[in-house]
Amino acid sequence: MTDELSTAERLLPGLDRQLRETGTAELESATSPGLRIFRQAGGPGLVVPGELGGLGASLVDALHIQRVLGARSPSLAVAVNMHVCTVLAMPPCAATEDLLRAVAGDHLYIASGFGEGRPGASVLAPTMRAERLEKGWRLNGAKKPCSLSESMDFLTASVALSSADTDGSEMALAIIPADAEGVSVRPFRSSPVLVGSETHEVVLTDVDVPDECMSLLGDPQSLNAALSTAFHTFELLVTASYVGAASGLVETVLERRRGTAAERVELVGELETVMASLEAVARACELGQDDPAGVARALYVRYSAQRTIERVAALATELLGGTPYMVSGVSATLFSAVRALAFHPPSRSAMADALDRFVLGEPLIIP
Ligand SMILES: Cc1cc2nc3c(=O)[nH]c(=O)nc-3n(C[C@H](O)[C@H](O)[C@H](O)COP(=O)(O)OP(=O)(O)OC[C@H]3O[C@@H](n4cnc5c(N)ncnc54)[C@H](O)[C@@H]3O)c2cc1C
Repeated sequence: MTDELSTAERLLPGLDRQLRETGTAELESATSPGLRIFRQAGGPGLVVPGELGGLGASLVDALHIQRVLGARSPSLAVAVNMHVCTVLAMPPCAATEDLLRAVAGDHLYIASGFGEGRPGASVLAPTMRAERLEKGWRLNGAKKPCSLSESMDFLTASVALSSADTDGSEMALAIIPADAEGVSVRPFRSSPVLVGSETHEVVLTDVDVPDECMSLLGDPQSLNAALSTAFHTFELLVTASYVGAASGLVETVLERRRGTAAERVELVGELETVMASLEAVARACELGQDDPAGVARALYVRYSAQRTIERVAALATELLGGTPYMVSGVSATLFSAVRALAFHPPSRSAMADALDRFVLGEPLIIP
């Protein structure tokens, strides 16, 4: 992870040291200081362009940072990932520039609400509707699971637009201040996994959003430029976050010289191969373009990474041994956290038919 650590030191100096000193156990607790530490380090402005006051990090830089965050705290990586993907991929609307300036200048977080907690449902079929008002939209519904929901300064929520001009087939991303009237957060879960990610339910009751804060995503039946950018960045960055979690386990194996040299090198090589693939896809990616082949490649890498991470995490946990697993619990925490890569949309089995048709020349559709 040498390159990733140098990127972190170049862009967010001192962050890794502070996260290491805090320790994974505390960062993975329900009272994790991780998002506060990342905010104080200037992390929210990471991928905001330099001309808007941000650090102007590239997509490859962002992959590196997500890996480092994942190694220290998968919860922190999962929560930050939603913010970074939103900043990179949100289609521009009238409010975007001011929002990004504020994000960089005041170190603000943006949460992303697409999922609605309906098993088997597509993230591109929101039941949250936006009803037309004279100069804006009225939103009602709930988003869950929604990470970053305690620390968020803004929520971006996917909605289906209902008006005389649209039949509900158009999707938009509404930008909503977290303290707007009608926004509330309620607990969503009781599992101890990834509790530091602040993943809860965000409820919207008669929340009014002006036109200038609606970012259009188009018709989700086709993979247009906006959706292509969203999936391209999300698949790469979420994968890097979980590569990071597996890297945290492997780092400990290396530090404690557990296993044989052959086993240690196998673990390192497996993760470096995934990271090299992610970087290759990221370097070829032109954000804002309609690029189905790039999205498909990002998905292939992600699904392959899921398998690799399963193998690496299982072997690393075994080499670390039963005592750390039972006593400190950190290897158990990371081992169970890495499994969640499989739960981010679109799932491997949900995408199988669509990719099978795409390789035969049909358009790529995200179900
Ligand atoms: C830690 C974490 C944080 C998250 N944070 C956010 C967030 O901040 N914002 C957000 O919008 N979402 C977030 N999500 C939610 C995520 O976006 C998914 O929407 C949600 O996890 C889907 O729920 P589910 O796993 O029950 O999926 P389901 O859709 O019920 O799928 C469960 C399994 O069923 C199978 N399956 C599903 N559909 C099909 C199909 N069509 N064909 C064949 N098999 C299928 C797959 O094996 C899949 O893995 C988060 C998820 C996790 C795990």
